[in-house]
Amino acid sequence: MALCLILLPACAPAGERSGERSGEAQQESRGQEDLADPYQQQREEMVWRQIAARGINDPAVLAAMREVPRHEFVLPTYRDAAYADHPLPIGMGQTISQPYIVALMTAALHLQGGEKVLELGTGSGYQAAVLACIADSVYTIEYFEELAQTARSILDRLGYDQVFSRAGDGWVGWAEQAPFDAAMVTFAAPSVPPALAEQLRTGGRICIPIGEPQRTQKLMVFTKQADGTLGSEFLCAVRFVPVQGAGAE
Ligand code: SAH
Repeated sequence: MALCLILLPACAPAGERSGERSGEAQQESRGQEDLADPYQQQREEMVWRQIAARGINDPAVLAAMREVPRHEFVLPTYRDAAYADHPLPIGMGQTISQPYIVALMTAALHLQGGEKVLELGTGSGYQAAVLACIADSVYTIEYFEELAQTARSILDRLGYDQVFSRAGDGWVGWAEQAPFDAAMVTFAAPSVPPALAEQLRTGGRICIPIGEPQRTQKLMVFTKQADGTLGSEFLCAVRFVPVQGAGAE
């Protein structure tokens, strides 16, 4: 059973999924990454102590958390705290989620590989990168232009070219790219954005913190039924940053 934490305001290469790299090339690139990445050890410890030890055992999620260089997505001043067990500020009053919550929400989508996923709330871009390690493509929307641009440049530099991003109000979803196989919302919302439910295929899952801002919210998973209604499941209590834009009105 996953142990859940109450959070502070919360909320993760080469353009190919790791599983798609061919044998020899993969070995070689992994070897170079190991040598070049002084945070490798901290990342391993993060996966064991914060994620696996709390009951997350989906191998694809653990591999993604082991692979994505979280320190590249945080502000330079917080780099040495990148693998700590809490969220961190990313500017504009927003935060990158605690590693465990990123893993928990990713696992909640039950991705098998090959999916098209929509994320609302790009923030640092870290969660999108984690999703991109498992899914086929990730479409992510960020309200603040400045954050969207910073995330895009980090994702480009690291080669996450199957993450597609845009700035704007995610409350309306991304109709041109629908339907999505799964969706994730990384800000606290009063309810599931109607457009998100519409743009999800039948059987698809949405992971989203539901509740009022500045209070504890319920981290929920909704599954779209054949009749269009949403089945719901409670995961744990969390604290996320509030929705901006239309969803806040
Ligand atoms: N997934 C992010 C977490 C960012 S925190 C990461 O891995 O770093 C949540 C983000 O949602 C913030 O950047 C905030 O600006 C953004 N946000 C809030 N309301 C939004 C909206 N209506 N549309 C898109 N993004 C929104």
